[in-house]
Amino acid sequence: MTRKIRAALAMVAGMTAILGVADAFAQPADTVDAHLAAAKAAAQFDFTGTLARICIAPQTAPGRDVAPAPAPDRATWFAEPAKVFDNLYFVGTKIHSSWALTTSEGIILIDTLYEYASEEAIVGGLKKLGLDPTKVKDVIVSHAHGDHVGGAKLMQEKFDSRLVLGGPDWEMIEKSVNQYPHGKPKRDIVGTDGQKITLGDTTVTLVPTPGHTPGTLSMIFQVKDQGRPLTVAYSGGTAFNFPNDVPHFDTYIASQRKISAAAAAANATVLMTNHSEFDNAVTKIKLMAARKAGEPHPFEVGRDAVVRYFKVMEECAQVARLKLLQAAAKP
Ligand SMILES: [Zn+2]
Repeated sequence: MTRKIRAALAMVAGMTAILGVADAFAQPADTVDAHLAAAKAAAQFDFTGTLARICIAPQTAPGRDVAPAPAPDRATWFAEPAKVFDNLYFVGTKIHSSWALTTSEGIILIDTLYEYASEEAIVGGLKKLGLDPTKVKDVIVSHAHGDHVGGAKLMQEKFDSRLVLGGPDWEMIEKSVNQYPHGKPKRDIVGTDGQKITLGDTTVTLVPTPGHTPGTLSMIFQVKDQGRPLTVAYSGGTAFNFPNDVPHFDTYIASQRKISAAAAAANATVLMTNHSEFDNAVTKIKLMAARKAGEPHPFEVGRDAVVRYFKVMEECAQVARLKLLQAAAKP
C-alpha cells in the first residue's frame, strides 16, 4: 500500500470516528468499520442470522463439485408443514424452506430442499396440509445449490411440474459432474428479468439477483393474510460461497440494490428467504400459534424492515469487498 493511500484511509477512518456512525440509510464512509456499523444498524434485532452469517464469519470460497453428503438423521431436519398465509404454505425443514403458493389453477412451489428431505417434507407435507402434490404446476428454484434444487427432479418426473431456474444456474446443473448421483433435473424454463410466472389468479415476478450464484432468482409476489393482500420480497441467495473477488462482490452489491428497489416499489412488507437462519421462518411459524385477533402477522415486518434486510446484505458485501482490496494493497 502506498503511503498516500494509507494516509487517505487513516483520514477517512478518523473522520468516521469524529462524525459518528451514519444511520442505515445514509451512505456510510468507505471503510470496513463504517460498512459493518451500517450493516448492524440495518439488521437491528430483526436480521441477526443474516448479519452473523455474512458480516461476522462469512464463507469465502465456493463449494466443490462433490456428491451430496449422506442424509443426516431425520430428527435433525424434520419440521411439521404449516399454513402461513391464506395462500402460502411452509413445506420445508428446520433449516431450509420450501413454500407452496396456492392459486386458482394449482400450486406454485418455491425451492425444493435437499434431495433427502424433498419426498417427505414437500410431497408428504402438501398431503398433510390437504393439498394435492399433483397440482404443483410450476416450481421456481432460487438457485442451483443442493439445498434448494434437491427435489426439482422429483417434482419434474413425478408431477410433470415446470421448473424455472436462472440460465446460468441451469448451466451449473448441466456442467456438474458429481452433484447429481441420482440424475439431474432437465432444462425447462429459463427465468429472466421481470418475467412473470402466472398460474391462474396468481403471479410471481422474477428479479434475478446474481451474486450468490450467477443465476440466482429473487422474486416478488402477493399473499393474503385473512383476506388482506400483502406483498412478499423473496431473497433467493445469501451467503458468500462464490469466488471471492471484487467483481463478484460488485455484482452481489448491485443485485441487492436492485431487489431492494423492486421490493420498495412493490411496497413489500413481508421478507422471506429459503433458509430459516435468515428469515426466522421456523420460529415465526411457531409464533403464529399464539397470534391473537388483530395482532400483526409474524412475517409482516413492514416496508422499512424489508429494505433494511437488503441493506444488511449490501453492507456486509461491502465489508468483504473492502477487506479484499486492503489485503491486495498490503506490501
Ligand atoms: Zn446456496
